[in-house]
Amino acid sequence: MRVLITGGAGFIGSHLADLILQRGHTVLAMDNLVTGSMENLVHLEDDSRFSFIRHDVTEPIHVGGSLDAILHLASLPSPVDYLQMPIQTLKVGSLGVYHALGLARAKSARFLLASTSEVYGDPLVHPQPETYWGNVNPIGPRGVYDESKRFGEALTMAYHRTHDLQTRIARIFNTYGPRMRMQDGRVVPNFVGQALRGEPLTVYNDGSRTRSFCYVSDLVEGLYRLLLSDEVMPVNLGNPREITILELAQLVIHLAGSSSEIALVSPKGTRTEDDPQTRQPDIARARTLLGWEPAIALEQGLLRTIAYFQKRSASTV
Ligand code: UDP
Repeated sequence: MRVLITGGAGFIGSHLADLILQRGHTVLAMDNLVTGSMENLVHLEDDSRFSFIRHDVTEPIHVGGSLDAILHLASLPSPVDYLQMPIQTLKVGSLGVYHALGLARAKSARFLLASTSEVYGDPLVHPQPETYWGNVNPIGPRGVYDESKRFGEALTMAYHRTHDLQTRIARIFNTYGPRMRMQDGRVVPNFVGQALRGEPLTVYNDGSRTRSFCYVSDLVEGLYRLLLSDEVMPVNLGNPREITILELAQLVIHLAGSSSEIALVSPKGTRTEDDPQTRQPDIARARTLLGWEPAIALEQGLLRTIAYFQKRSASTV
């Protein structure tokens, strides 16, 4: 297959590029490098089956030659980024998907949309199955991300129904691992960075909110299997092990061998407005349809992530 990955220089996109190359395909990675980084792709420079295109998917996308699949990951998934860049977030989540779907149609390529657990908003059903329609505040600060992803899903289904395009929708739950940016602002890089620097871990509010964290190698395997499957309806991909943010902070301190303390803080501005109280994927569909479930335990994945951040901070000193 000749595969285009939008957001290919990002955290998940670059791991997906590695996996797809390992499975014998050709990869074109596209990224505007707003949050992605060429450092995530530098190890692929000499691979003749890999190429990079710098492009912003909110502008029409032109790619020469045939394409068998488009994995559309271009997005601003960190709440810090989408709160700072709300209009760009809406544009990439709407125009970006529109352009990528148009390209898929022109090339008769299979299309996979990287959607999100945020389509469920602050969920009133727990754990969240794909049949749940969600509880999203459209005009709240997180609405720019959540609603653009919901629009992306609607557009993807419309292309499938109208043009018979082969489409797939992955609802990705919290994912972590090497190549997350240190300044990403999401909880794992924040806590790992703080633990390694010996600073207090900033647990927002009382730390009772829950999330379920999936290691990136598990996630990209799920995306690849979904791409190859025949499943058109959305599939949750995530690790069902749910923990509170306070427990996560304690675990990171322990695994990093850090002397950091925990600080319960109320962040300024809109950072925690509409912050979902709980989140846990129901992955029954992924298990049945894809034969997929996560293999990396949280402790194991965090140790690998800590080692990555340790190495990076040593090389930037
Ligand atoms: N969080 C926190 N401290 C931080 C960063 C995040 O307590 O330094 C909390 C945040 O309020 C949320 C959870 O951790 O309840 C996960 O936040 P993140 O930004 O990683 O992603 P989200 O799941 O909200 O998209």
